[in-house]
Amino acid sequence: MLKAIKRALVTYYTCRDPKEQRKQRRRPQLHFGLSATEASAEDGTISVTFTFRSGMRYCCPSPACHFFHLFFQTDWGYFRRLLAEQGVEMRSPLKFLIRVVYERGALFLEDPGNGDSTYFPWEKTSWNEFVTDESNPSDSQRVVRSSDSDGDA
Ligand SMILES: [Zn+2]
Repeated sequence: MLKAIKRALVTYYTCRDPKEQRKQRRRPQLHFGLSATEASAEDGTISVTFTFRSGMRYCCPSPACHFFHLFFQTDWGYFRRLLAEQGVEMRSPLKFLIRVVYERGALFLEDPGNGDSTYFPWEKTSWNEFVTDESNPSDSQRVVRSSDSDGDA
């Protein structure tokens, strides 16, 4: 089930338009790591990990900037259809537990708005966790746990 969920997530991220999705032949490429680590069909919860990878360049460390549609305005209906195409049925309301990992050495712009800005490397691997809940969409993008509070990076 986790592989099927991952396929649905990758499609969700790389191809928002189902028609485009059908046209797309090659496997979509993501510049961040993405994995579904746990899922429970009964309680509708999916645990997802996004990774800002070491050596890769990103505009900024804000998860909402990169994974916008899981942090704001999640298109639950579309995501559910993608799940169904993979043969996965999840209970309503769906809930994502999202872990965002920053690998040491991931590169971010010092000043994202500025064209001359240089990249700086992330110093120490760390992570934050967020919850996005279909029944309470406005409550998203709140950090519920982090490696700082857990001390386990
Ligand atoms: Zn950004």
